[in-house]
This record gives sequence, C-alpha cells and structure tokens, in this order.
Amino acid sequence: MKFATKAIHVGEEPGLVSESGDVVAPIHLSTTFARREVEKPRGGYEYSRTANPTRDALELRLAALEESKHALAFASGLAAEASLVLSLLKKGDHVVAFDDLYGGTRRLFSQTLSNFGLDFTYVDAREARNVDQAVGKRTKMIWLESPTNPLLKICDIKAISEVASRRDIITVVDNTFMSPYFQNPLQLGADVVLHSATKYLGGHSDVLGGAIMTSNEEIYTKAKFNQNAIGAVPSPFDCFLLLRGIKTLAVRMERHQLNAMRVAEHLEAHPAVEKVIYPGLKSHPQHTLGKRQMSGSGGVVSFEVKGTLRDVKRFLRRVKVFSLAESLGGVESLIEHPASMTHASVPGKAREVLGITDRLVRASVGIEDVSDLIEDLDGALD
Ligand SMILES: *Cc1c(COP(=O)(O)O)cnc(C)c1O
Repeated sequence: MKFATKAIHVGEEPGLVSESGDVVAPIHLSTTFARREVEKPRGGYEYSRTANPTRDALELRLAALEESKHALAFASGLAAEASLVLSLLKKGDHVVAFDDLYGGTRRLFSQTLSNFGLDFTYVDAREARNVDQAVGKRTKMIWLESPTNPLLKICDIKAISEVASRRDIITVVDNTFMSPYFQNPLQLGADVVLHSATKYLGGHSDVLGGAIMTSNEEIYTKAKFNQNAIGAVPSPFDCFLLLRGIKTLAVRMERHQLNAMRVAEHLEAHPAVEKVIYPGLKSHPQHTLGKRQMSGSGGVVSFEVKGTLRDVKRFLRRVKVFSLAESLGGVESLIEHPASMTHASVPGKAREVLGITDRLVRASVGIEDVSDLIEDLDGALD
C-alpha cells in the first residue's frame, strides 16, 4: 500500500480491532484485563501501561508511516525522547547533538539528563565533518533534527548515519518538521526516528503525543521494556485522536507545503522583510541537499522582519488569522517569536551564535485559504 492508504487503514482493519467489525478503533479505557487462569492473559493484554488495544492500533499505524518494523507511542515528544535516551544510554556515555535543536530537547539534555552522568556536545551538523570531529571513545549516540527548529538548517542524514554505524553509534533523527510524509530517515540509514506527534501527526492542536520508530530489534527491545518500566504512555483517548488525525496526513501535508511556498515567496519579495528561510526556496543555502533527502519542504517558514524588537512585537500583535502561539503542525496557522517563546530556554549567547535573533519570526503555515494568510501578513507588516 502507498502512504495515503496506509495512513487511513493500517491498525484499523475491521476484524483486527474487534470482533464486531468496527471501522474505527474503539477507545479501550480498561486499565486491566481479566484472565481465565493465573498464567494466561486472554487476548495478550494484562495492564494498560504495558499494552492497550487502542495504543496497539496506533503503533501499527506509526510503524507503517516510517516503513519501520516497530513503533512505540508516548505521552509527548519529550516523553519519547527521555524514555529513549534512558533506554539506550548509561552513566558516562556521550551524545553528539545538532546545536540548533527544539528548545525543549536542549533543555532536557542540558538540565535534566546531564544530571544522570550523560554528556552532550552540540555541533553545527550542517557540516558532517563537525559531527565526526566531536565523536569520541564514549560517544554512543548522535542526535539530529533536519530541518532544525527554528532556523531550518539541514544536515546530511545519510552521510552522518554512515559514519556513525561504522563506529557502532546510534543515530536518532527527530523528524517532526517533515513528518513521515516528506522524509524517512530510516531509509537514509538512521537507527531511530522520533516524532512529536503533537505537531503534524495529530495535526489539529488538540493532542500531545510522541513516537519512536525503529527496525533495529535490540533498540526496540530496550525501548519497549522501558516504555512500560518508565510509563510515559499516551492515554487511549490520545491514541484515538492521533489515529484520527493521521488519516488526513497526506492531504494536509500537501496543502501545508503549497501554502508555505506561496507565503515564503511572497515574504521574500516584501520590503519589510529582511530575509526568509524556507527549504523550498532556491535562496535556502541547502536547497539541493534538502531536495535529495526530502520529498517536500514542509509548512514552517521562518523570517526576519526589518526594524527593532518593538516593531517585531507590534507586527505579531497585529496578525489576526495567524494566532500568536507556540507549537506548529496544526491545520490553523500559528506565528511566534522564538527568542522570547519557544527558544527562551536557550541561553542568550547560544541563541546569538545560532542566529536566533530578536527579529526572527517563525510561522507554521496552516491549511486555510492562502490568500487570507497573505492578506493577514501584509496587513500586519504594513
Ligand atoms: C514540539 C517538538 C518536540 C517536543 O514534543 P512535545 O510533544 O511538545 O513534547 C520535539 N521536537 C520537535 C522538533 C518539536 O517541534
């Protein structure tokens, strides 16, 4: 089956989900499952943290989207990240990570996981050589995002994964921005793909979720054990909302991308805009690499507004169709100021080095009529 078909059917085949032939997976709220005998759970289920039928349906679907053997669902993207790292690493291990990461990921690494004897080095992974040079004897994991948040920097997933696997290092790619529709890091050689399902997978800004996908049995066994041992699992209702959201992923991504391209081109020609960052634009410094490893450019457009911080804040106050809010990937358009919102937890100095200036704005372009979006931005910029 092709992507759009799998996104609708896998995990919810009538007969697979229930005896009654439900076309939609029921929300299984039972936290425990009765047995006939001491050693024998009836349908393979014992306790919902360990496994739950609605979550099983979601995990089958998630695996199908990334063409992986396995998927595991979590209560949020960060829950998936923490559970994964704690499953695979131990005290003394070293991680090389892209320096332009989702702010919460960097906070989790630098302020929480580093308390457990893990070391993190951040490098500009746009040059694969920088990753290579940061790898040492204790390096066990390379953590990538591509394109990054909010500067949409791209790294060569294939080249970095190749070097890593030769040295027995696990490569993890946070694929949230592209969604499985536009990029499949496992096919490029990565060992684990991670998603904040809160974004494009859910797609409607009404559910938090996280997922990891892998075809590596050893990684899966450890991560599955810890999904239960740590317990950061999504509720059955969350699983239902994600299953429902994913059904329209293919059509949503197509429209996100069309709208984002139109918005990016329009802003690039606007006199009040200093520069626009969008992988689909020829002006993106890594446009060619992007074309090689992604089949689209997604729905996030970052840009710098001319003027002072005050001007930028005035602009953000004046948009009406775009909501001034964190997050991305929903059907509705959102706009935000990374330096004071999503990336406020990144120290000022680090933000400066990365290029997250006070004038930078990040837009998650939704699937509304694009002429309304452009009119809204124009009005506020004027
Ligand atoms: C939102 C996000 C996360 C964190 O996910 P939550 O679901 O908010 O915990 C991680 N990575 C990226 C790229 C994100 O955008």
